[in-house]
Amino acid sequence: MSRFVARLSVVVSQQATVRSAVLRRRIPGFIRPVSTSQGLQSLTRYNETTDWQKKLTPEQYVVTREKGTEVPFSGIYLNHSEVGMYHCVCCDTPLFNSEAKYDSGTGWPAFKEAHGTWERDESHASIIRRPDNSLGSAGTEVLCKNCDSHLGHVFEDGPDPTGQRFCINSVALTFKPRENNKPDDKEEQN
Ligand SMILES: [Zn+2]
Repeated sequence: MSRFVARLSVVVSQQATVRSAVLRRRIPGFIRPVSTSQGLQSLTRYNETTDWQKKLTPEQYVVTREKGTEVPFSGIYLNHSEVGMYHCVCCDTPLFNSEAKYDSGTGWPAFKEAHGTWERDESHASIIRRPDNSLGSAGTEVLCKNCDSHLGHVFEDGPDPTGQRFCINSVALTFKPRENNKPDDKEEQN
């Protein structure tokens, strides 16, 4: 009897293996877990049909696609001081240079200006500003020019010489360290 049961269980487990193999084959290969710290290395261009919910973690999705805000003092880039570039977590566009980063004390990463800004001219930067009254008073939302991802807000109480404070959510960004101290202007502009 026990031998019969053992044989039966072997048959059952073989069938289960075949079934799960079939199931595995039906799952499209592009679905894969994404971690916040790794960013989205494979995404290079924004695609209108991109299913952001599949591409992003739930936290990244709420902040970037639904204009959420991460809990203050919780972001991974708040006290991050490596030299390099902060890119859009959705489309990989370079957004903020580490040299423009400073400690605003507010609980979110802060930047004096966007990458590509020349004096006050942001026409070559990869961010856009949009009026936003959801904060209770007139505010200005900051978005990725390439994919419309919500990044945070910009305020007029920043340090000299720009007077700007870009208050940006860590989860909207992915950081890439600068290699061999190559100049920033070698960074690709989209
Ligand atoms: Zn983007």
